Amino acid sequence: MLILLDIDGVMVTTPPWKNIENLDDEFSMFNNRASSNLQHILSETSASIVLTTSHKSRFNSDEWMRIFHRRGISPKAIRTLTENKQHLSRKEEILKWRASSSETDFVIIDDDKSLNDLPPEIKKRCVITSNLIGLNEEATNAALAILQNKKT
Ligand SMILES: [Mg+2]
Repeated sequence: MLILLDIDGVMVTTPPWKNIENLDDEFSMFNNRASSNLQHILSETSASIVLTTSHKSRFNSDEWMRIFHRRGISPKAIRTLTENKQHLSRKEEILKWRASSSETDFVIIDDDKSLNDLPPEIKKRCVITSNLIGLNEEATNAALAILQNKKT
């Protein structure tokens, strides 16, 4: 079970006119409510994280694990999509991942509106957040419904 997770607009919700505050690990502070909501999804589902964020290639899996732990989030594992060297849109990156993965039990949490144009069978597994709000209760419940339906 996987959460394909974006960071900006999901976990980091600082408005563009404000400086994004970094923690001592040189990565942006997360929205506290988004952090506790993500931890809630992880504890309910034991899903692993696949980072889709444009920051994905800045750190390796161990470093990402430390970054998430530092923000109160304890995933079973963190992987990333392959580096986006071809400057694909998020939608194209997701389609590329989908073509190479056999995982059917996943949710995509992202604020990228290009995901609205995904084919319906992938679109129905997307939770599209609003970039200044991020992973709020409504988005959390939607993500949980997608992940938990699959099990029943
Ligand atoms: Mg984003």
